[in-house]
Amino acid sequence: MKAEIIAVGSELLTPDRVDTNSLFLTEELNKLGIEVLRKTIVGDNRELLAEAFRDALNRVPVVITSGGLGPTEDDLTRETVAELLGRRLQRNDDVVRAIEARFRSFKRDMPAVNLRQAMVPEGAEVLENPRGTAPGLWIEDKGRMVALLPGPPRELKPLFLEQVLPRLRRHVSGVRMFHRELRVTGLGESHVEERIRPIYTRYPHINTTILAAPGEIQIHLRIWTEDATQAETTLEEIVRSFELALGDRIFAHKAVTLEDVVAELLTTNRATISTAESCTGGLLAERLTRIPGSSTYFLGGVISYSNERKTVWTEVPAELIASRGAVSAEVAVALAEGIRRSVGSTFGVGITGIAGPGGGSEEKPVGTVHIALATPTGTKERLVHLPGDREMIRFYASQLALDMVRVHYLFDGKPRPRRVNPAS
Ligand code: AMP
Ligand code: MG
Repeated sequence: MKAEIIAVGSELLTPDRVDTNSLFLTEELNKLGIEVLRKTIVGDNRELLAEAFRDALNRVPVVITSGGLGPTEDDLTRETVAELLGRRLQRNDDVVRAIEARFRSFKRDMPAVNLRQAMVPEGAEVLENPRGTAPGLWIEDKGRMVALLPGPPRELKPLFLEQVLPRLRRHVSGVRMFHRELRVTGLGESHVEERIRPIYTRYPHINTTILAAPGEIQIHLRIWTEDATQAETTLEEIVRSFELALGDRIFAHKAVTLEDVVAELLTTNRATISTAESCTGGLLAERLTRIPGSSTYFLGGVISYSNERKTVWTEVPAELIASRGAVSAEVAVALAEGIRRSVGSTFGVGITGIAGPGGGSEEKPVGTVHIALATPTGTKERLVHLPGDREMIRFYASQLALDMVRVHYLFDGKPRPRRVNPAS
């Protein structure tokens, strides 16, 4: 079954307010197997709302609106929809009493304007809203279903879950959505696309989306079907092929961050980590400690920004900084080994680089970053040239450092698996 969502409210067309209700509604509808084909945002304007509503009803059997049920003149959803469906508005005494009771509970009298919220289109069911004055409305019309919900998310969400969901459930078929997600790091969007395109184009009935986020690419696979076994088998088959095509670049098979994955690896391996950061200014430590329970694996870190602090805090020899430069493989290694030694952790990370916009040279342009990971079996070092502005360079550097920890667990002492060409 297909649905459309109409978010009503002029505030949603300003830079101040975001339509978040439709995200919640889409997620819930998808779980029921209802696909959202279109979302519309309309201001508080009767003609535009009527047009959006009429068009939606011509396309799909389920239309859900949010907002425009307030007591004031600018809230028009109730009137507009009633008129469009040719239903008279009648005052509903139960709703009047519920609104009066709500005001009484605040020791106030009900303002006359609130009577508008007690107007119910003929044949509509009232969806009680204990968290606000505007009740929701449910209308079935020539096989189509319409739910009018109040705009405030704290009212809309429970109202939808408690009252709309059970009504929709009675009407939906056994079609459900099946979903898989893969997260990839260290490859750009077009490279991911290049590697997996030959695979997903073989499955035209599966909806494949590639989403780029900072430092990672998310791949979503979705299918709507009644046949759970077939869906699971097909999705599994595609995921296996993606694994061959992307190899160790896949860091998760669900919606988690790279720091989540690293935290889990460190925790399950009873390992600890410490950080000596220069150009990332503590970002790596911040990401590692974002996760509740991080004290089990994160022991501490320093931001050794100046050369002098690199020497004092992390025992980087001053001669090394003088001879190789602060941004060098040798200094990254010394930072990682120095912090690991002084903290006594399983791993030590050292990051030094040029985040820009100034400070670059021909030999070491902006984006040059050295990252070292000191481990019980030796130290690994990577030189990367990161694109973007200061913020992006710092984030990518922290992402790469995290990925080095992840990859250490994948391949420590083992040969790297060969990547299989998906096209062959
Ligand atoms: P209403 O009086 O029913 O139009 O809803 C009013 C309030 O709900 C507004 O102040 C908004 O902050 C909030 N609201 C309305 N629509 C949305 C939406 N689509 N997403 C999130 N909040 C919304
Ligand atoms: Mg409004």
